[in-house]
Amino acid sequence: MSGVIEEAKRYASLSWPIIPDHTVSPDGACSCRNPECENPGKHPRIKAWTVGASTAPAVLERWGREYPEMNISVLTGPRSNLAVLDVDPRNGGAESLSALFSPEELETLRTPIALTGGGGNHYYFKYPGSPFKSIPNLLPGIELKADGSKVTLPPSLHKSGERYAWETSPFDVEPAPLPQKVLELIVRKRQKDRTTYGEGEPIPNGERNNRLTALAGALRKQGACREAIEAALMKINEKQCTRPLEEREILAIAKSVSRYKPEPTLLPKNRIPNILSAAELQKMVFPPAKWAVPSLIPEGLTILAGAPKTGKSFFALSVCLSIAQGGIALSAIETSPGEVLLIALEDPMRRLQERIESLALGEAWPERLHILNECPRAHEGGVAFLDNWLEEHPDTRLVVIDTFQKFRKPQGGNSNAYEVDYEAAGGLKAIADKHGVGILVLHHTRKGETIDPLEAVSGTMGLSGAADTILVLKRAKGQGKADLFITGRDVEEHTLALRFDDLGWKLEGNADEVRITEGRQEILSLLKSSLVPLSPKKIAEGLERKNNSTIRNILSKMADKGQILNLGGTYCYAGSGSHERD
Ligand SMILES: [Zn+2]
Repeated sequence: MSGVIEEAKRYASLSWPIIPDHTVSPDGACSCRNPECENPGKHPRIKAWTVGASTAPAVLERWGREYPEMNISVLTGPRSNLAVLDVDPRNGGAESLSALFSPEELETLRTPIALTGGGGNHYYFKYPGSPFKSIPNLLPGIELKADGSKVTLPPSLHKSGERYAWETSPFDVEPAPLPQKVLELIVRKRQKDRTTYGEGEPIPNGERNNRLTALAGALRKQGACREAIEAALMKINEKQCTRPLEEREILAIAKSVSRYKPEPTLLPKNRIPNILSAAELQKMVFPPAKWAVPSLIPEGLTILAGAPKTGKSFFALSVCLSIAQGGIALSAIETSPGEVLLIALEDPMRRLQERIESLALGEAWPERLHILNECPRAHEGGVAFLDNWLEEHPDTRLVVIDTFQKFRKPQGGNSNAYEVDYEAAGGLKAIADKHGVGILVLHHTRKGETIDPLEAVSGTMGLSGAADTILVLKRAKGQGKADLFITGRDVEEHTLALRFDDLGWKLEGNADEVRITEGRQEILSLLKSSLVPLSPKKIAEGLERKNNSTIRNILSKMADKGQILNLGGTYCYAGSGSHERD
């Protein structure tokens, strides 16, 4: 059926990430060619489908070419903003549904509903907020599909020979919030799961992983540590599983759930949009803007631009290490500790190791700094990959991408540079906001002088257009000094003076003040060593400065303070008193 790709693209326009699935032929055989396939036509053709699910038209078209007969499904959970009730009449789903809802309630339900090829229904609801785990057996014959699950979409083919079809299309009706009755049921079910492990009935082979993972999750939410979860799972595995899982599988389950913060899940957060009057807005108190690095890198998307070889990577690395250790960034700014992800696409691990060594961290390098050398590009699932990673590492404060050029879709050919940049940067901005982290993207500007630092990034308006904050690192050639220009939505525009020494970049203060102080020191020593008073022009020449007016400015301020003497157009050192007027 040629329409599958067109439909997939329409779903993608709703921001529903699509997964290419296997196909089932009229004789019931699955395209995976496994004669004993347990899920004909319903399992993914791609491996890491929670990450690989895509809304990119180019990706969908490629799948369409590779798998012209494919079925499709949508990833449920935070990326699609969907939670789906899967009602299977063969297992009593219809009865469960009518026990839960009155006929009137079902009739007035305004939400997308699909008919499965097997006679069941999928009710599509709005995802109530992360995390929201799938529940395989919410009621007999009813499954809740949310985090880490998927649902087959129309017009996929069912093994019955029927196609999935919409009863109420998502293009006519938006997903409704999950009904209160379902939310209450979920809460009760979760409470029950917490208390019934260990007593129960045998766990069949096909359910071992799901059941043990659910039990582990319930334990974790109650605050169990990894060792306790391992011990409990071992026991249940041995006693209840018809054929116990291997020990390494148990350890892997315990490890993966232990990455989540132990916290009780109460009723999910309400996500219904809020309309405010200006008067109400006036009274609201917002939490202060959060910072990955106070007054330097806020939450959201930040660009660090600079010519190649200005030291951007070193700058980013030392900031990463400071946060991972909860230390002082740039020898000046205190940070709170957190997880950090450094995606270093230009530097091999060996060079990173040398750099970290040169920063003299001491013996124990931080576990909280995670380093990657490879990452799918933005249009190939890179943004989704980050989204997923952040989902699993909720304590992350900063993600660094070095560099943007290596992360976005390669430019050239017919692609529109602005759109390519904006799409990649916009995706990063969205997940930075969603997870409340700072994402710092390093960007090489073109070589050559630009007077306005923002002009330096302007070659990539698509990138700067999506960013909250822009940093421009400008380093004088061959010097251990640089200016860091900062502008953005939550920061006042200013420039910081940095100095590069054995231990990396150090913040010296506001560039205006630091550079003036430096300028004053140089002027003082020049005048001290001169036998005659000097004109501003001579002083500028002596200091190899091009800008006479800046020098004049500094000179007059220094004279006001009595640091030098103004002899009517020429200046001399105030301390010596040995100069006479010509
Ligand atoms: Zn199969």
